[in-house]
Amino acid sequence: MNIDELLTIDQAHAWHPYTSTIDRDPVYPVRAAHGCRLELMDGRTLIDGMSSWWCAIHGYNHPVLNQAARDQLERMSHLMFGGLTHEPAMRLVRSLVDLTPEPLQHVFLCDSGSVSVEVAIKMALQFWIASGRSERHRLMTIRSGYHGDTFNAMSVCDPVTGMHHLFSRVLPRQVFAPAPDCRFGETCPPDRIEPFADLIERHHHELAAVILEPIVQGAGGMRFYSADYLRQVRELCDRFEVLLIADEIATGFGRTGRLFACEHAGISPDIMTVGKALTGGYMTLAATLATERVAHTISAAEPGVFMHGPTFMGNPLACAVANASIDLLLSTDWAANIARIERGLEQGLSSCRSLPGVAEVRVLGGIGAVEMEQPVAMREIQRRFVEHGVWVRPFGRLVYLMPPYVVSDAELAELCSAVTQVLGEAPDHN
Ligand SMILES: *Cc1c(COP(=O)(O)O)cnc(C)c1O
Repeated sequence: MNIDELLTIDQAHAWHPYTSTIDRDPVYPVRAAHGCRLELMDGRTLIDGMSSWWCAIHGYNHPVLNQAARDQLERMSHLMFGGLTHEPAMRLVRSLVDLTPEPLQHVFLCDSGSVSVEVAIKMALQFWIASGRSERHRLMTIRSGYHGDTFNAMSVCDPVTGMHHLFSRVLPRQVFAPAPDCRFGETCPPDRIEPFADLIERHHHELAAVILEPIVQGAGGMRFYSADYLRQVRELCDRFEVLLIADEIATGFGRTGRLFACEHAGISPDIMTVGKALTGGYMTLAATLATERVAHTISAAEPGVFMHGPTFMGNPLACAVANASIDLLLSTDWAANIARIERGLEQGLSSCRSLPGVAEVRVLGGIGAVEMEQPVAMREIQRRFVEHGVWVRPFGRLVYLMPPYVVSDAELAELCSAVTQVLGEAPDHN
């Protein structure tokens, strides 16, 4: 297919994420991708600053991951998980239990991040039904969060950026605390946790769980908040007997400088979700982990089973690549590498601080975010990034970099310099 044929079909029939079929967003056809580079069909090459929405931690077309997929393909691509089991899934379940906080012992494999959040919520609800306290059916969360696009996941996304008003007739109404205002690296004094503490005290009798993204609120605003805040949330959940769900879909597998962001606070949730980087961005796969208490409480009462079972649960091909991706990550000094990326982002983005229109520059681990005072004009700014030879896709007021972990120092410098130049060229972003 040539570029014109491809774009004609795209224009006529393809619905891209969060887009209109009338007022079409431009799309850039990609022929192939290797390492940190995307090769466009028109011959241009872009340095990738997005890791394809934070997934492709080892870059594209990695020989080890390719081989793992090929080897598994020769054995079996898919197999129902009802009544059957296999080594790729068991290796993955074992390593997820080993790598995550110790109390998490039971793994439910699912097909995407949003589904793993639905599963986590359903586990929390079934836990309280099984405990004879079905009045505990609501969720509490913090504003500026993002947990996915299915209905229950959407109900705990930030109510403003998540457009709750659109679906107000069908979305379950949850309890929202303000977004944490104590920053990463700071402690969280009593008056800063008070709004959260007041709400949980007022609502605990009807709450099944608190759900949040630990330390980094990603797609809801790239906010990095205090580990002390998270620690106090854990304590409050314990005090009021509310389950804690940690959504590590964006933060898991090293992105924040720890393997899982909960480790910054030394806490363990009752339920945890992982996804995105789980397969190194090769295939869709996610997982929900639960403590023995949650799993056994659900299983000990009517109907005696957890009521969920996706068709593609435990897909062997995806599990095999996930195993290879985790092995690859752990075989390197990944923490030192993330520290290198953090230094590169800090150095490379620091001059953005003095640009007009920039509200703040924040860096944590492999995440560098430039927050603007006004929302950026996405189409225009994305086109200019492409002209500068980089793939950066801003949202709202945020221009951010989250490159693959294999990014070289030179590529990192080019990404940062493109961000600095493009934002510098355009003092007015409306
Ligand atoms: C991306 C994301 C999700 C949703 O995952 P999908 O695979 O897109 O369904 C949920 N929670 C967090 C924190 C995410 O970043």
